[in-house]
Amino acid sequence: MFIDLSVLLNEQTPVYPGDPNTVIKAAGVLEKDGWCDHYVSVGTHVGTHIDAPMHMIKDGKSLETFELEQFAGSAKCIDVSAGFDVVKTASIKEGSIVLFYTKMSEQYFDAAYYENYPVMSQEIAKFLVSKKLKMIGVDACSVDNNEDFPIHKILLGNDVLIIENLTNLGQLIDKDFKLYAFPLKLGIDGAPTRVVAEV
Ligand SMILES: [Zn+2]
Repeated sequence: MFIDLSVLLNEQTPVYPGDPNTVIKAAGVLEKDGWCDHYVSVGTHVGTHIDAPMHMIKDGKSLETFELEQFAGSAKCIDVSAGFDVVKTASIKEGSIVLFYTKMSEQYFDAAYYENYPVMSQEIAKFLVSKKLKMIGVDACSVDNNEDFPIHKILLGNDVLIIENLTNLGQLIDKDFKLYAFPLKLGIDGAPTRVVAEV
């Protein structure tokens, strides 16, 4: 069974403060032109998306340079809604993918979503790097809440990709599953991504 961990991407999808607004407008009109298509303009970090190293690291890798294997693999989801300290004692398989359930996705359309969210410590970020993870993911707007972006830099500096704005993670606690998160094939810092768990 597949569980969709992605949010719907439309003009109402919240954007990170300061990021570009999403524009989706009709181009071809079926009755007039004989086909229907659209013009779509999005920031690379809107909705459910992946951050590549280039997002925060000078000369960091862009998204399309990663092997496809990096975007899929065995995964687990840790409930960090009471704090990230539980990660220190969690069993984490080397080379896997770890998602963090903060419960912030329940407030996705509230101002609080961008103002008051939990983040991991630098110590935990370094622990995750030591596990050689392919990706980590959160159901929150960011893995950092200060302007120095230390967590982004620790993870992306070691080619651990970051998935942000996930949803439906509550269904995955204590389950073994496979995660698929293939971003658009863009040669830049990030891209909207359809993220799916197979349980
Ligand atoms: Zn991002």
